[in-house]
Amino acid sequence: MVIKNIELETVCGITSTLPDNTLPEVAFAGKSNVGKSSLINGLMNRKSLARTSAQPGKTQTINFYNINQAMYLVDLPGYGYAKVSESEKKKWGVMIENYLHTSKQLRAVFLLIDIRHDPSANDKTMYDWMVYQGFEPIIIATKLDKIKRSQVQKNIKAIRTGLDVRPGTKIFPFSAETKQGRDEIWDYIDSLVLE
Ligand code: GDP
Repeated sequence: MVIKNIELETVCGITSTLPDNTLPEVAFAGKSNVGKSSLINGLMNRKSLARTSAQPGKTQTINFYNINQAMYLVDLPGYGYAKVSESEKKKWGVMIENYLHTSKQLRAVFLLIDIRHDPSANDKTMYDWMVYQGFEPIIIATKLDKIKRSQVQKNIKAIRTGLDVRPGTKIFPFSAETKQGRDEIWDYIDSLVLE
């Protein structure tokens, strides 16, 4: 996708009604600090349109970025904030579930995992839950520049094993620093959303 224009079109809080979009959507999930904002900014060629964190507990929203009036990148709230109460986590669980179920345009869900670490229990729960909801999450292994090239295949295998992904699951390594992996991710998104 050649980015021509971008608009943060809709921001949904916990009580908002989700938009009934007519353009295709792809969504991104991951625990806080995994590099989700950096990935979305990288895909959009923007430095800071999607928030980059540093403040845990930042406002949780579902953000819909309209790309070229052709599709949406959907930024789901990060999970795993230690400071968020159980009841708040439940509410967000319901909100995300509601989105996954009601979006008529959702073509794929990407789950982000830090390439340096084995997936956490939270990551595994999120992966299993998405599969249970009927999705086949695609994995993006973030912060690729933080490990040696010789470690990449080993760490990707550890993610595959740690999440016990379904056979054939795609895993895209990505670095927001070098933008390595960006073109591959866009080619894949294009194949999903362009007719
Ligand atoms: P989010 O909470 O998932 O949105 O994570 P952010 O995008 O805010 O990133 C969390 C931290 O990791 C920030 O300090 C980023 O600069 C850093 N970060 C994110 N992606 C990368 C990456 O690919 N490489 C490196 N070296 N740092 C990254």
